[in-house]
Amino acid sequence: MTKPIGIFGGTFDPIHYGHLRSALELKQILTLEQIRFIPCQQPVHKSNVYANAKQRLEMLKLATQSEPDFVIDPREVYRDTPSYMIETLSSLKQDFTDIPLLLIMGSDAFAELPQWHQWDKLLNFCHIVIVMRPGHRLNLTPQMQQYLNTHNLADANYLEKQLSGGIYVQSITALDISATMIRAQLSANISPKFLLPEAVLSYINQQNLYKEIF
Ligand code: ATP
Repeated sequence: MTKPIGIFGGTFDPIHYGHLRSALELKQILTLEQIRFIPCQQPVHKSNVYANAKQRLEMLKLATQSEPDFVIDPREVYRDTPSYMIETLSSLKQDFTDIPLLLIMGSDAFAELPQWHQWDKLLNFCHIVIVMRPGHRLNLTPQMQQYLNTHNLADANYLEKQLSGGIYVQSITALDISATMIRAQLSANISPKFLLPEAVLSYINQQNLYKEIF
């Protein structure tokens, strides 16, 4: 079987080193074929998106241009329907039939999984890899703790031996960066330099993004 493909969905408003460092570490630790960054068009779980889809795609391209195994996948942006991950995974499965897909999510996102459309069917298409995010413990409801216990993979080798169905928790270097923090700094005229790639920051300034948004 081919090495697994990492699926990194998000708003990426903007992409930052928290995302990029996690993706690189996961690719190396779990020996992934590639990581596909999939920006959502209309996020289902967030009320506000500040940069439009074209701008968020451009920032992703600028941030990943030196990493050939980081692939920008615009399928949610080009879809007219809401960005339900279950539909994204179903379409990915048609493109990558015999390759394990690893849906990457922060521990905060995993805790809120039951809010996702058809969340209990996600594991039919992929494994879930929970990235332990700084400042967040795996603080789960009894329902989610049970879900994790049922599907938890003790050994990362299963991620490539099975096509789907497991949950794996991976610790990574703690980078306490969020897009919210970066937007707040820009809005307050404070530089977020070194929290995100220089090329992305230049693009943000050129496009006049995230000004006076709070
Ligand atoms: P916002 O602050 O706008 O909510 P964000 O920084 O959390 O944005 P998203 O695009 O919403 O970024 O996140 C996409 C995915 O990346 C989610 O699974 C999220 O948990 C994860 N993620 C975000 N920031 C980090 C970080 N610093 N370290 C590890 N994972 C992260």
